[in-house]
Amino acid sequence: MKLPIVLYGNPVLRQKGEEIKEITDEIRQFAADMIETMHEASGVGLAAQQVGKALQITVIDVADVAERPSRMWIDQKEVDLEKYMPMVLINPKIEITKKKEVGMEGCLSFPEISADISRGFRVKVEAQDLEGNELKFEAAGLLSRAVQHEVDHLNGVLFIDHLSMLARLPIKADIKIIKQQGQAGQTV
Ligand code: ZN
Repeated sequence: MKLPIVLYGNPVLRQKGEEIKEITDEIRQFAADMIETMHEASGVGLAAQQVGKALQITVIDVADVAERPSRMWIDQKEVDLEKYMPMVLINPKIEITKKKEVGMEGCLSFPEISADISRGFRVKVEAQDLEGNELKFEAAGLLSRAVQHEVDHLNGVLFIDHLSMLARLPIKADIKIIKQQGQAGQTV
């Protein structure tokens, strides 16, 4: 079932997600609904807050973005990432490399807005999957960016928070309009 996506301005986007202690049928259904919602909206990632729940769960799918490749390693060995997509990350913890990379980013809670954001070049991830198994991997490219963007969401942090006042200027008016819609409880 496709879920309504909340817009910037909705207070749930600023809430830190609660740790998931038990992976119940309800969580499994929620993850399936999040994946469907992300695919329908043509997004590469979606966090629980974006569908109104402050929980430590996010879904990612970068398999079909040929023009922005991703790489993934498990136990230092590069793996075929398509096998891991769509990906569900529960209670993820990340370690970001000091080396940065600037790239274009958007967010389903900020329709039509995009900006250049500096993120760690590579990321190490530790999370649980839907079976409760430990999932450990390293990522580069779009997958690295998507993981950092989504883990930010789980902590109530949004991509515009990474912009300087100056970099925010060209999109300030558009952000304000979305904020008013979000505060009014509108969804997409
Ligand atoms: Zn987002």
